[in-house]
Amino acid sequence: MIKYTLKCDNQHEFESWFQSADAFDTLKASGMATCAVCGSASVEKTLMAPRVTSKDDANLSTPANAQEQALAAMREHVETNSEYVGMKFAQEARSMNDGDTPERAIYGEANREEAKKLIEDGVPVVPLPFVPNKGTN
Ligand SMILES: [Zn+2]
Repeated sequence: MIKYTLKCDNQHEFESWFQSADAFDTLKASGMATCAVCGSASVEKTLMAPRVTSKDDANLSTPANAQEQALAAMREHVETNSEYVGMKFAQEARSMNDGDTPERAIYGEANREEAKKLIEDGVPVVPLPFVPNKGTN
């Protein structure tokens, strides 16, 4: 017996057991493989769903390629050596640039407008190519 997740043309997903891989094709060819919900004979095997990983799993997994490795290394560097200031990023960056706050490495979040203004005003900020961790480490 083999279990497939099937999907009909009305996007219903359901699981069904078949005697063999060929049995599904045979049933489908004869119009007997039908949607359990709406009865549509237009059903397809869905692709094997990729395992959904939690954020923690994703962090533990080995990066797949050089680009991801570089990104992971950069992320680690930023998160280890900078202070997460969250939504106060624009404010903090500007305040440091103006000399109101001692300079230190920070990272955080800024909306498009804030980021654009900072760059226009010559504040040395760079967009990070990843979504920062919310300062959990
Ligand atoms: Zn259906």
